[in-house]
Amino acid sequence: MYAEGVAEMAGRIRDEDIALVRERTSIAEVISDTVTLKSAGAGNLKGLCPFHDEKSPSFNVSPARNVWYCFGCGAGGDAIKFLMDAEHLSFVESVERLAARAGLQLRYVEDDRSAPRTRPQQGQRQRLVAAHAAAVEFYRAQLGAAGARPAREFLARRGFDRAAAERYGCGFAPDAWDLLTKHLRQQGFTHDELVTAGLSRPSRSGTLIDRFRRRLLWPIRDLTGDVIGFGARKLFDDDDGPKYLNTPETPLYKKSHILYGIDQAKREIAKQGKVVVVEGYTDVMACHLAGVPTAVATCGTAFGGDHISVLRRVLFDSDERAGEIIFTFDGDAAGQKAALRAFEDDQRFVGRTFIAVGPDNMDPCELRLAKGDLAVRDLVARREPLVDFALRHAINRYDLDTVDGRVEAMRRAAPLVAKIKDREKRPEYVRKLAGDLGMEIEPVQRAVLAAASGQPAGGAPAPARGGPVAPTVDSPQSLVEREALKLAVQEPVLAGPMFDAVEASAYRHPVHEAVRAAIAAAGGVVAATGGAVWIEQVRDACADLAGQALVGELAVEPLRIDGEPDPRYVSVTLAQLQWGSVTGRIKDLKSKIQRINPVSNKDEYFALFGELLSLEQHARALREQAAGGL
Ligand SMILES: [Zn+2]
Repeated sequence: MYAEGVAEMAGRIRDEDIALVRERTSIAEVISDTVTLKSAGAGNLKGLCPFHDEKSPSFNVSPARNVWYCFGCGAGGDAIKFLMDAEHLSFVESVERLAARAGLQLRYVEDDRSAPRTRPQQGQRQRLVAAHAAAVEFYRAQLGAAGARPAREFLARRGFDRAAAERYGCGFAPDAWDLLTKHLRQQGFTHDELVTAGLSRPSRSGTLIDRFRRRLLWPIRDLTGDVIGFGARKLFDDDDGPKYLNTPETPLYKKSHILYGIDQAKREIAKQGKVVVVEGYTDVMACHLAGVPTAVATCGTAFGGDHISVLRRVLFDSDERAGEIIFTFDGDAAGQKAALRAFEDDQRFVGRTFIAVGPDNMDPCELRLAKGDLAVRDLVARREPLVDFALRHAINRYDLDTVDGRVEAMRRAAPLVAKIKDREKRPEYVRKLAGDLGMEIEPVQRAVLAAASGQPAGGAPAPARGGPVAPTVDSPQSLVEREALKLAVQEPVLAGPMFDAVEASAYRHPVHEAVRAAIAAAGGVVAATGGAVWIEQVRDACADLAGQALVGELAVEPLRIDGEPDPRYVSVTLAQLQWGSVTGRIKDLKSKIQRINPVSNKDEYFALFGELLSLEQHARALREQAAGGL
């Protein structure tokens, strides 16, 4: 709910501009930047929710209504709300981002108590992104300068020509203390902005200096293509810093989530349902150029759970469709350790995990240089299931010619088999392990069972979080109440006065009644123009939490009609809705009349009888209306 935010911000960006941004924004495109969406029928789309962990998609998008809603966790809203939640932006920042995307120039309402402002107050994120964009241009230009020769040679030695350097925006941080800082200050960026962005840092004497010096730079982009940081490679022997230096953690740069190359790779990852995880910037470049467009790399940190979450959403990895993840770790000790850590993570990853180790332990960049593009594609094609790799390395260190060696190797390998998530595959791996060890199946099986039972929780699936937040559709009455509310939320202009005329008491379910009351509190359907604003108004007017969550569902759930709803459909739905309440009242009334003595309570008897007759007449009219006659 950001009603207060809208009110406060309306004094900054003009209301009509906010409305125009909503109108010109394709919500499906905005969400597709971070979540892979598939058709969910009736023009709607679905994907894996970015706001909670799930294995089957319950995150719904309705492009026709410009809203999204997650049935799993109850989050929902319009494109602005999506950016606020998914990218932790403020309301203004989200609107600015969408405006830039749609090519719209925002106008800001000036605060009439102060002097006219020369520059509108922009959101912080947009300022930091703008500073990075200017820095990319600066560094890129420096790559052509005389002092950048070692950087150009570094790229050339690794097989990257000028076009490749351009495509990845490579740059050079010159041998100077504050050239970039001065350049950006001249462009109007403040001291604080440059420090917050991680582009500059205060020196010991307190003056502001550049973070990167005498290094080859790769701009690091987020899923949407905005540059949010840099990776910097050491070039000179007298540079006593680490081989690679990255932007520190900033409001933009969160290394646990960042995957280098994802902006260029995401479409192919979604299309092919697979991703190749490599170790460095040059490996990503080498893979893409060699015809493996699905490659990404972590930046200055090990591959972890947050990376998995990002990739699963891009992969659309779910129970229905398992994505494939291929690691190209070095075959050396560090690489093996990383692979085994990935094996631990694999238990969270529904998809299949593979490892590809190059000949002579060459990484993709070295392989491309030595043997060409085809060898890189071949490396990825000849991937091995991670389980097989892990097992091989677990037993390789033992002397299998001795009984002790075989038993030790079995003890070492059994827990790995026990960890395999897909239980049906375990017997197969027990047989394989027994074969590799040269042992009988039974002792291996016992060792695996012992390891499995020793594990806490035994690999049982964690209970699903969230769960249904709204009333379940358990009766025809509940179903029709829901349908009437959907019409009011989705098609207010059509539902109009017909909807408002039906009294709240017709809704039996308390949550439905709460939403009906919220619609009335928001001014009634007759006052609504529809769209995301209307949905927000209803949600904000709803006092009931379950009701608020239900509004989001109602906004995206398809109507139970093929084709477009018309007045006849509204009429039929509302008649069905009232039918339940009218027949209920008739039943109550009849029971009451039976309990009354018509002789001693003659007046009351006739009053109730008259009420019954008019209700029965109403019921007949409703039955005709429900049958479709207007
Ligand atoms: Zn969710």
